[in-house]
Amino acid sequence: MSLDLSHLCQTCGACCATDAAWPRFSLEDEADLALIPPDLVKPDGSGMACEGDRCKALAGEIGRATTCTIYGLRPDVCRLCQPGDDACAIARTRHGLTPLA
Ligand code: SF4
Ligand code: SF4
Repeated sequence: MSLDLSHLCQTCGACCATDAAWPRFSLEDEADLALIPPDLVKPDGSGMACEGDRCKALAGEIGRATTCTIYGLRPDVCRLCQPGDDACAIARTRHGLTPLA
């Protein structure tokens, strides 16, 4: 049985602020993508817009309290990142947070 660590994301947000190329679109439904506020999407429509490495849809303070303001519409790549996986560990380390066991 694996532990559910998803609640820890609400006090993290590191993976949403590690690589501007990461929150890209892939096989999402076009109708769902159309619901994302245009100012949160890259001008070329390839993914989420970022400020530096931070996705513009991320609200809050990394490592304290964060939320995705388009959670129900977030790209597939965001849904694939799971707390405790390799990408999570890299992101947390980059932000000075302890990787999850
Ligand atoms: S880096 Fe890991 S713990 Fe932090 S928000 Fe992303 S998946 Fe969750
Ligand atoms: S869309 Fe949401 S889950 Fe995806 S990188 Fe941006 S803030 Fe994070």
